[in-house]
Amino acid sequence: HSPCEQALVLLYEFRHACATPLHVLRQISEHMALEMQAGLDQPGGSQLTMLPTFIEKLPNGSEEGLFYALDLGGTNFRVLRCLLGGPEARVVKQEHEEVPIPRQLMLGTSEELFDFIAMRLITFMQREGPEFHRGCNLNDQQIRELGLTFSFPIRQTSINTGILIQWTKGFKITDGVGKDVVTMLQSAMDRQKGWPQIRVAVLINDTVGTLAGGHYWNDDVMIGMILGAGANACYVEGNLPNDIQTKSGKMVVNMELGGFWSSHLPRTDIDEQLDNESVNPGDAAFEKLIGGMYLGEIVRRLLLKMAQEARLFGGVTLTKLKQPFILVTPEMSKMHADDSPDLIVVGKVLRDVFDIGQTELPVRRIVHIVCDTVTKRSARLAAAGIVGILKKIGRDGWSDEVGVSGTLKPLRRNSERTARPELKRTIVAMDGSLYEHYNRFRIYMQAAVHELLSEAAARKLVIELSKDGSGVGASILAACHSERK
Ligand code: ADP
Ligand code: MG
Repeated sequence: HSPCEQALVLLYEFRHACATPLHVLRQISEHMALEMQAGLDQPGGSQLTMLPTFIEKLPNGSEEGLFYALDLGGTNFRVLRCLLGGPEARVVKQEHEEVPIPRQLMLGTSEELFDFIAMRLITFMQREGPEFHRGCNLNDQQIRELGLTFSFPIRQTSINTGILIQWTKGFKITDGVGKDVVTMLQSAMDRQKGWPQIRVAVLINDTVGTLAGGHYWNDDVMIGMILGAGANACYVEGNLPNDIQTKSGKMVVNMELGGFWSSHLPRTDIDEQLDNESVNPGDAAFEKLIGGMYLGEIVRRLLLKMAQEARLFGGVTLTKLKQPFILVTPEMSKMHADDSPDLIVVGKVLRDVFDIGQTELPVRRIVHIVCDTVTKRSARLAAAGIVGILKKIGRDGWSDEVGVSGTLKPLRRNSERTARPELKRTIVAMDGSLYEHYNRFRIYMQAAVHELLSEAAARKLVIELSKDGSGVGASILAACHSERK
């Protein structure tokens, strides 16, 4: 058999193991809704940690004044100020700055990290121009209020306090775990002395910022989701367990969606190897199938297998192909987007990334299908996740809300129901570069959402790109929870 024929056998096996037919997606979304309830009922009751955020009030457009946001949780951190003008003027003016975090600070102490952040925040605040004072009588001496977006796992104890559970994403900081994040920032600000002072009004993660940023414009926004390097979502829960009491009976819950695990997930040998060799084996199962951080790596692993077992790329040296994470998802999506008859872009990426110089068209076709397979699975699983959330809040058009009992009531079609209120519109505020920039991912995801939902529910669901909504969202949430006036 030719290398291509042998590689095709591996490809068919892989596609089979990756398959996400409708009935599997249905099982996954149903399992998701049940796991959400289990996680709510009991800490540790599910791989979905379902963290309470203490946010029960979301912005509605009436917020006014000057507020700050600080966003930490990636290789850059962002500082932002935003002047809100109320229901008519809305976001009058905003300004932000992105600051890369020096590598050595990611491997140092928490004090060094927060000192750096405080210093940059203060520098940014000192450049606050008079145009940000329009309509709000703030003077230089007054405390500025801030929304802190901190996208590491934290156990929140109030709306603006939370204990760091773990440093992740390449941060190997020697201390800080077990400490309140807001106190760490506040102490660093105090060490800088002098103007300006801040009060952290809210401590949130990026999905909550995205939800709030969307809700500011439209109160049908019920879900905030981020599909970027990882995958996470939060939503408005109206069926809270007894030990969480809020005035409205509602609270935003951070699902830590990436941790979802189900035996229905279509995992392959390659996913298992990737997981075993990862820094957190056994964790973040869902994220490892979906997140932008992993898609290119899954492709690389399959291509390496095809090279080794089927000699797909002939006698070329495999040094590059053997290097973990060398194929990043943006490059993979470039190959996938290639619709030239000769797959020229696929050839170019293989050359640039893996040093695989000459490839025949059938080889490039196989590579293209590999990209398609990995992304299709990712997108369809993300869709099942969204539908799982809709199911949990009774907005998928098939099931009633999952109650505190934790069981789904039997499925009934909308048409069989009598005297039920009409299904409400639900908007998902979506952020993240994977969703934003990977077109075929987005198309597959939307198609799967439509397959999964009843027609009525599909018509009521809107997925809205809320670009960088989380930064502005954090400052608006600070406004919403301001102690000023
Ligand atoms: P983060 O998740 O760290 O907040 P982003 O939302 O920007 O950051 O997401 C970054 C991830 O998005 C990267 O892991 C990358 O794989 C993916 N990504 C960025 N650009 C593209 C692209 N053009 N096509 C596909 N994926 C992309
Ligand atoms: Mg982000």
